[in-house]
Amino acid sequence: MNFEAYQGLPSASGGVAPDLVNAPMIRHWCEAMGDANPAYTGPDAVAPPAMLQAWTMGNSGRSEHFDALLRELEAAGYVSVVATDCEQEYLRPLRIGERVLFDAVIESVSGEKRTALGTGRFVTTRMDLRAYDEAAGEKPGEATPLGSHRFRILKFTPANRSDRSARPQGVDRQGADGQGVDGQPPLRPRPVVNRDNAGFWDGVTAGELRFQRCDDCGTARFPWLPGCNGCGSDRWHAEAAAGAGTVYSKVTVHHPVPAAFGKPYAVALVELAEGVRIVANVVGVPPEQVVIGMPVGLGFQRFDEELVLPVFHPAGSDRLPPLRVPVTRTLIVAGAIASRDYQDVHHDAELARAKGAPDIFMNILTTNGLVGRYVTDWTGPHARIESIAIRLGVPAYPGDELQFSGEVARRDGELVELAIRGTNRLGVHVSGTVKVRLQHSDEQKGEHA
Ligand code: ZN
Repeated sequence: MNFEAYQGLPSASGGVAPDLVNAPMIRHWCEAMGDANPAYTGPDAVAPPAMLQAWTMGNSGRSEHFDALLRELEAAGYVSVVATDCEQEYLRPLRIGERVLFDAVIESVSGEKRTALGTGRFVTTRMDLRAYDEAAGEKPGEATPLGSHRFRILKFTPANRSDRSARPQGVDRQGADGQGVDGQPPLRPRPVVNRDNAGFWDGVTAGELRFQRCDDCGTARFPWLPGCNGCGSDRWHAEAAAGAGTVYSKVTVHHPVPAAFGKPYAVALVELAEGVRIVANVVGVPPEQVVIGMPVGLGFQRFDEELVLPVFHPAGSDRLPPLRVPVTRTLIVAGAIASRDYQDVHHDAELARAKGAPDIFMNILTTNGLVGRYVTDWTGPHARIESIAIRLGVPAYPGDELQFSGEVARRDGELVELAIRGTNRLGVHVSGTVKVRLQHSDEQKGEHA
């Protein structure tokens, strides 16, 4: 079947947002998200950027093309669906009184991919948004670009996940020569997960770097081993590293650089504050700037659909204070309604269970809103978020708690790129990148005018 033929066709009936940007909807959103940013209140209020798509909701149905594509994918055996990514780019602030216009297209349908969930195809839709100040008498023709919203789903045939060994190994895309196959980029080698080190990989899934500590003599050890080097005891417990370390030794791999790594890279032996040493990549700086004795901090990097590895950044790169958000039924329902997402799985537990979920779960726009709030809680009201690109992981159900953490991954003057993660009992719920301009020049002009 020629799924590619759908690329470029409308994914939704494009259109006009039903309401002007208004204070009540903004207030409902902020109440639902617990977002107290003063930039979103008062006479000069702007709309929370993460709210972008909420303005378009409720006045746009899926197009006949999108429905036809979904039917064809289902006929091909890709019967299940999961949302995987949400990327929003914000070109300018959106103010009260503006009218939002939007166009949505099917941007791409991927080739068949093997993922942790099963074999399937990624479908990416893209919405471009414009707005004009209708309250001030502007006409639709005067609308200026506002930003874009890209949304990716995976339509897949569920894999049989009976045990840990069923974790897809990715070898089909490595190829025997490590150069990749089928024109797809090669993947990094997969870790070998076994009985002795499974606790370490469970830790990575939960966003922790776990080492072992002997119950008898207290010696910390890494990598994971069945017995203690100090006293031979096989009694131990796992502890999570706090994340601080120093480079104990390093090499830069120049040649041959495996295709999956792309360019020369630094491999360091990092000594953690807890005393154990771990081999990992140091990222965020050119490899030649990684030197022995350098302080580093723990992060997690996603390399492909299924591989996340602990990595280290140069320390001193700021860390955001952690934020804990209780996942209540009220938060899930209020977030769904504030984002005008009336899908039953976000408010009706009975219907959610009928669709295979154990309970209602948080919608993506709420997750996106919480990420936006987490970032501006840290930056303060004068920063401007330029983009939020999130990857979705495990669902968030009532009774759980989301723990947000984040760090500065890159800094270029006022533009800061943050790596953000939100975890819960089931693992990583959301991970992604937020680009934020700490003090936008327009804002400064306004203040000094
Ligand atoms: Zn011991």
